[in-house]
Amino acid sequence: MRPDRLNPLFIEASALKGVGPNLARPLERLGLTRVKDFAYHLPDRFVQRRAVTNLDEASVGENIVVALTPIEHRASSGRGPFRVLASDAAGNVCTLAWFGRASYTARKQLPLGETRWIAGRLDQFGQMLQIVHPDHVAEEGGAALGTLCEPVYPLSEGLTQGRIAALVQQALGLMPELPEWIEPGLLGKMQWPAWREALAEAHKGEHAPARERLAYDELLANSLALMLVRNANRAKTGTPLHGDGHLRTKLNLPFALTGAQRRSIAEIEADIAQASPMLRLLQGDVGSGKTVVALEAMLVAVEAGAQAALLAPTEILARQHYDTLRRMASATGVSIALLTGRDKGRAREAILMGLLDGSIQLVVGTHAIFQDAVAYRNLALVVIDEQHRFGVGQRLMLSQKGQTAQNGRRTPHCLAMTATPIPRTLTLAQYGEMDVSRLDELPPGRQAIDTRVVAVERMDDVVGALARHLESGQQAYWVCPMVRESEVDDLAAAEARYEALRLRFGEQVVLVHGQLRPEAKDAAMERFAAGQAQILVATTVIEVGVDVPNATLMVIEQAERFGLAQLHQLRGRVGRGAEKSTCLLLRGEALSETARRRLALMRETQDGFRIAEEDLELRGGGELLGTRQSGDTPFRVATLEQIQRLLPIAHDDARLLIERAEKDGGGLTGERGEAARLLLYLFERDYGVQLLRGG
Ligand code: ADP
Ligand code: MG
Repeated sequence: MRPDRLNPLFIEASALKGVGPNLARPLERLGLTRVKDFAYHLPDRFVQRRAVTNLDEASVGENIVVALTPIEHRASSGRGPFRVLASDAAGNVCTLAWFGRASYTARKQLPLGETRWIAGRLDQFGQMLQIVHPDHVAEEGGAALGTLCEPVYPLSEGLTQGRIAALVQQALGLMPELPEWIEPGLLGKMQWPAWREALAEAHKGEHAPARERLAYDELLANSLALMLVRNANRAKTGTPLHGDGHLRTKLNLPFALTGAQRRSIAEIEADIAQASPMLRLLQGDVGSGKTVVALEAMLVAVEAGAQAALLAPTEILARQHYDTLRRMASATGVSIALLTGRDKGRAREAILMGLLDGSIQLVVGTHAIFQDAVAYRNLALVVIDEQHRFGVGQRLMLSQKGQTAQNGRRTPHCLAMTATPIPRTLTLAQYGEMDVSRLDELPPGRQAIDTRVVAVERMDDVVGALARHLESGQQAYWVCPMVRESEVDDLAAAEARYEALRLRFGEQVVLVHGQLRPEAKDAAMERFAAGQAQILVATTVIEVGVDVPNATLMVIEQAERFGLAQLHQLRGRVGRGAEKSTCLLLRGEALSETARRRLALMRETQDGFRIAEEDLELRGGGELLGTRQSGDTPFRVATLEQIQRLLPIAHDDARLLIERAEKDGGGLTGERGEAARLLLYLFERDYGVQLLRGG
């Protein structure tokens, strides 16, 4: 149970003054649903403004506060902005511009002939001075606005800086005093403020120690939780599995295993022979051959007389795995079943029976395989594919599902597989509770994918190359970016590209994106996989696991907008067959230095682990205050740079705390222990607490 003193933090956002139904959506989009989310909604940066008496004193690009008098309203035409022409005390004229709905408010706030204080960034548009979307319009108080060091928050459509700032202040006012969970020596050495103070400071200005402390809290919570999971797992009872090899020798493998595959299989075999349940991550780049490693492991379980399950994140992948496993294991006589949410009625009943009586030895499926209605006779190994779709909490839940009365409440061994090569630091952060096997060697004979960076101006050439490619009978992917900033625009761009390609190539083009109904998505994917469609236009939904060897061309639009890891994953969709594959990275005109280096790295190497490490360097190194990475770490507060620097410290500190707890009989007790418990709840890693003996 969450300690009462944290309750104010978890109050719903709707309880804040000024949050009505209109704001709920935009706030949700930013992940702001409870009071604590607002307190942790940290500014991207701060603006410092200068008050000027007229525009002659200001320079273009400067953040200013100035008194202006509106002289004309100009309604927007089409998609253009709503404009207000206004003059300063010296008679200089300046345009104020608003796009979209904000113009309604602007019109009301700026009646003609009445002087207002305007705060914003002075720009130039042609010969005109202009301020686009002023930060503030006030009837008076120019001086007050001018001295302000003001936070600039991440926004979503329908929200303004003023609105967010006011809600953040309300939330901060509700923060309780909490006891200190950071070790006093460290706190002193780093000169970090106390928690509540740090939150307040972080919203007031560029206060590095405050930001650091908040990041450290998150890292400490994470390390603690993972270690608690690890310890609890060690104390559980699993089924020691010893296979005699009689099934594995009957496998139909058209290839010899790589050294990395053999090493990983040996590591897994040693683990599952133990009485405490395995908790192991198999990390291997796309195409490194994880499936056969999983199959070998599952066959050990079956040889030992137990059942094994393979969990895939989507139906398509489940079906694909099912086909692959049946093909490879056809001579073993092992009975394999597929179970997804689509199975209904009789067919489903039959599978459930088979799992319960043990006649099905190996099951592949989606989440459906862990529904309450599904009971196993003796499930002893669970393999989770494409791990990054599941968080630690979900992993725990899965392992608990495996404990049934039938198998004496024993916890199944768990093998998680991920195709995302992540840097070692992040592996520790994300999978710190697991042991890791790495497939750091690709099967032999893979052809390098010819990767080129092409300016988007050469679109005609690209389409020409695509046409020639199709003539040779091969297929192609065409990926459009889908980044959260503007889903609507992104989707429109993908649809426009689809239409354009359809005009040229007709029926053989299909479109897949995240907003399609699952059946429509599957249907399009299946047409492509079956070779009935030659071009698959997609947003990043194809990222995970699709395998169409005849698709040998990958075009990625606006490649600079993707993360390197993502580009690498996407590129991995081609280069799967015997034919030479090509990847064209289309880039926009103005590339930053970092963007150029990132794309160059893609051209240079296909080693996923190297790409991951260098990506971390590139992104982490130049990171400014608060520019947070896209959601590929389990953190909301800590930046990549902070993770690299502070995680090792947090990790050690967590270990000390837990060792002390073990000595004290297994609970997080004493003043610091209690505080650490609060910390786990605060960052919603309380699954760790629940595992504590007596916790
Ligand atoms: P992953 O799931 O790691 O992305 P897969 O298990 O789907 O990779 O394997 C990719 C392809 O490589 C498959 O076609 C598989 O049959 C093949 N493969 C796996 N291991 C080997 C190997 N040792 N030698 C040659 N081909 C292999
Ligand atoms: Mg795979």
